[in-house]
Amino acid sequence: MTSNRLGVHALVFEGGTTPAEVERIVAQAAAAGYDILELSLHDSANLDVAAARTAIDAAGLAVVASRGLAFDADVSSDDPEVVRRGAALLHESLAITAGLGGEFFTGALYSALGKYGRQLTGAGWANVVGVLSDLADDAAGRGMRLGLEICNRYETNVINTAADALRLADAIGRDNVLVHLDTYHMNIEEDDFVRPVHLLGDRLGYVHIGENHRGYLGSGHLDFGAFFRALDDISYAGPITFESFSSAVVSPTLSSDLAIWRNLWSDGPALARHARDYVSAQLAAHGND
Ligand code: MN
Repeated sequence: MTSNRLGVHALVFEGGTTPAEVERIVAQAAAAGYDILELSLHDSANLDVAAARTAIDAAGLAVVASRGLAFDADVSSDDPEVVRRGAALLHESLAITAGLGGEFFTGALYSALGKYGRQLTGAGWANVVGVLSDLADDAAGRGMRLGLEICNRYETNVINTAADALRLADAIGRDNVLVHLDTYHMNIEEDDFVRPVHLLGDRLGYVHIGENHRGYLGSGHLDFGAFFRALDDISYAGPITFESFSSAVVSPTLSSDLAIWRNLWSDGPALARHARDYVSAQLAAHGND
């Protein structure tokens, strides 16, 4: 048994979060042996929060919610109206997370998920810090924490590396704001899989495990051994969530934002079982037990 709780992203199973989709997601996540279901809030208009909470609780799962923003609701914008819409979306999403029974809300909370055509401005940075400081206070009042997921240069211009994320977390200055690493993004931006983990230490609060092409773990070229040894170096005890996308499971919004054009697998439940075993084996081999 490992001390890390293992999670799976809902897009492994279904593209949306209608009540019928949530039922299937919850059943398949539990059947594959996971402890945590990560639910993206990109489809929250179709989400029945109370029904989802009941289903998640009944399956004995914990829940984490995640999202990115949108270019017309973006707290890294220079336009006060666009920032205002982004802030409203964040506070609404935090309330949904609480309604689901979640204590952790993470993702690209600081910008849209997409390719920016220019550098972040100083005003945009100040807007991110201001909005996320307020959001962190809202979260603290609910006994909740926030994650800053570090994304690659094609998905954000705000934070691309662990060093960037620490600068942002320091500027926000709230102890309920943690950093979220994703091996898919690390592969594009970091020097290796070890130094970012060591740099973050106990400020690492959440991990996404994904291959370089976001398909089957072990079918790409990422050095997961190095990464899991580094997690052991810092005695990381937080969640580890498997994230994978294929054109076989489509969200009309999120799949396009993430450029999911290729079919890397078609059987989500089989993929999820494989990933659960793969991560468990890495943890056992590298001392996290
Ligand atoms: Mn991720």
